[in-house]
This record gives sequence, C-alpha cells and structure tokens, in this order.
Amino acid sequence: MSSKSDIDCCADGHFGPALKLEDALARILADARPVQGIETLAIRSALGRVLAGDVVSAIDVPAHTNSAMDGYAYANRDLQADGETRLAIIGVAAAGKPFTGAVTAGQCTRILTGAAMPAGTDSVVMQENVELDGDIAILATGQKAGQHVRRAGEDIGAGEVALRAGTHLRPAELGIIASLGVSEVSVRQRPRVAFFSTGDELRHVGESLEKGQIYDSNRYTIYGMLMRLGVEAIDMGVVRDERDAVARAFADAAAVADAIITSGGVSVGDADYVTETLERSGSVGFWKVAMKPGRPLAFGRIGNALFFGLPGNPVSVMVTFYQLVQPALQSLAGLPDPAPPLSVTAVCGEALCTKPGRREFQRGALSRQPDGRLVVRRTGTQGSGILSSMSAANCFIVLPEDCGPVAAGDEVIVQPFAAFV
Ligand code: AMP
Ligand code: MG
Repeated sequence: MSSKSDIDCCADGHFGPALKLEDALARILADARPVQGIETLAIRSALGRVLAGDVVSAIDVPAHTNSAMDGYAYANRDLQADGETRLAIIGVAAAGKPFTGAVTAGQCTRILTGAAMPAGTDSVVMQENVELDGDIAILATGQKAGQHVRRAGEDIGAGEVALRAGTHLRPAELGIIASLGVSEVSVRQRPRVAFFSTGDELRHVGESLEKGQIYDSNRYTIYGMLMRLGVEAIDMGVVRDERDAVARAFADAAAVADAIITSGGVSVGDADYVTETLERSGSVGFWKVAMKPGRPLAFGRIGNALFFGLPGNPVSVMVTFYQLVQPALQSLAGLPDPAPPLSVTAVCGEALCTKPGRREFQRGALSRQPDGRLVVRRTGTQGSGILSSMSAANCFIVLPEDCGPVAAGDEVIVQPFAAFV
C-alpha cells in the first residue's frame, strides 16, 4: 500500500501538501478488506452483523394465499355484471383456523385478515361493502377481480434469495429471516479493533491529577463509537510517550486486531512517536488530511492490521473517527463501500468564519423553526479540545474547502449525527 511517493511525502515532514478528505477516504477504503472469519449465530445475536452468504428461502412467504382484509371471500365469476350480488355465507375462515370445505357457485365465507383463502374463492370484499340479510351477504357493485388477496410467495418466493451476502442485519432483516422459519444465519465475524491513548499527561479515571495532568477521555469516546458500530473493541490502555513503549504497544495490538486506533502523538512535538514508529514497524499511507479539526492524522498498516493514528484533541478524535475511521471499519465488517454521510442544507443562524483550503467540521445544533425551516447554530466555542461542543451538538456544520465567510441567513451543509450510528 505504501508507494514510493507516499513515503517521500511523509519524509517531507508535516509541511507537504495535505490530502483532500475524499482522496484520503478513497485510499483508506482501497486498503480495507472484509474480515474473512465466519460464524453461525441465532437470529437475535446476528443483529448488526453482515451476512456471509445469501439466505435462500425454502418456502413461499406468505406460505398461503390469504386475505388482506376482514370481509367475505368469494369467486369473482359469481358476481353480477351490474347490480348487487347475493351469496350464501357457508362458514368462517380465520387466521390460523382455515375453512376446510369448498365454496361453490352462489356461496361465500366470512373471512378475517390473514386467513387462508378457502378453496373455490379468489377475491375478498371488505365488510364495509357488504349488507347482511340473515345468512346472505349482499355485495355492493364495483368489486374488482382478485381484490384484497395476498398471494402465496408475493413477498418472497420459495427458492428465491431473500437476503444477499453483504446485507447489514437490521431489525427488518431479523424479521425477514424469522419469516422464512430459519433460526440461525452465517455472518462475518466482527472486526477486532484495538485502541489506546498516548501521552505522559494522561491519567485514568479514579486517579488523582497532579499539575499538568488530564484524564484520558479519548478511550471512552472511542469505546463508545466502536460499540455503536458493533465491532469488537479491545482496550489496550494508555501508552507513555517513549519510543520503545509505543513500538511494543503497536506490536501487541497488531497481533490481536484487524484495525488499530491510537490518539495523540501524531503532531510535530518531540514526544510524538506515533508516526515515526509507524514508519519503522509498518507502512505509512499518508498522514495529513486537509480538514479541521483533524490534521495531522496518520494512516497505514502494521502487519495485517489497518492503523489509524488520530490526533490527541478530543473533538478531533471524534471528527476523524466519523469521517475516516468508521467507513473503513464498516468495510472491514463486510459492508459495501459506504455512501457519503447523509447531509441536508440548513439556514445558518449566525455568521461563521473559516479558512479556505480545508474542510471544516463545526459542531452545530440543528432545529426546525415553526415556519418549517431547518436552522443550525454553533454549539459554543469550537476549540478542538472542547468536548462539550460535541455533547451539545446534533450535527456537523460542513464548510467546504472553497467556502468563504458565512453570513447569518446563508445556507450551509449539515451532517446530522444520526447519519453516523
Ligand atoms: P497530542 O496530539 O498528543 O499533542 O495531543 C493534543 C492534545 O490532546 C493535548 O492537549 C493532549 O493533552 C490532548 N489529549 C491527548 N490525548 C488525550 C486523551 N486520551 N484524552 C484527553 N485529551 C487528550
Ligand atoms: Mg501527546
């Protein structure tokens, strides 16, 4: 993956040209191959997984032609060409309690939704269009042949592929699998993702802080984002800013994981060993992306594991994860290459400043005004260390590379967080 020009670019240090976000993502996705392991899981346990093979239906769904309405089942050829039709009611068909006799000329049955169509019938009249005269049903004119009937196999036919390999199993798919009478399915194993924080200043929650120390929060946001994605998260703790410690942590992580995520240690500071170690023990794809927050960011490979060296700042971690890491992990999970995240346009409620040449992701609160317009406002100070700006947000305000200053009332592009799981 690491071509000569990639390495030259890295040798230029941090001052070479940064990659456009789309180009960075395309390079990452080109390297993200689905994990190969497969396992068989009971339907419910398969929620969130990716099908490893096609699911072929052994039966028709629905299994029997049945009524879509409460009403009366009859044969269309019995209807009067014009005027009402009088039919003798000879029995009842209910869901799970079929009418076992046969309906002949001049006859009908009462039928309830989901009941199998009795032999000799092909249509259902809604009860609202029927008058009763003792045991006689009087059908209004204007009924259509075959109406209100659900044909056997109209959802899924016997022998058809009900769900294709690569399908993400969401609630609807669990229901489809159950509707086939299948109790377990073959799915891809979850990608194993090892993650750790780097930094001498980091302390664990529960410890006390000395001057200059901070609590390690990135391992918690990363954990949360990984759990939402449904991958197997392997927490490798905090690694000190020491060359050997970083190298050891990389080797340990590469031995157990399909992907490795670190935070911190990718900038130009003396104590930033992540990129250096990646160059020595693996290969570097690129390590600068024209985005804010987010640069610098390292991407590469150690052994068979993809490597993402995210910046240390808590907001940068979340932005780069959602924009670049999450799509790659979805590819590792076996999903097709993701479409760009869902975005909408909204009216910006305030003026925004941005510098051209990089894509900026500000944190926004999107709401619908009483007049129906979507309006977005920034959630306070936008420093990349201010995690409360993420917590107060429900969307990113995306300012493209060629975006000039935004005035209050201008339209901006917004990515609702709902697009990111
Ligand atoms: P770095 O990229 O290592 O220079 O870190 C950039 C900033 O992010 C510094 O202010 C760090 O203290 C902060 N930071 C790094 N790692 C973490 C972490 N795990 N949790 C919270 N803040 C962090
Ligand atoms: Mg650091």
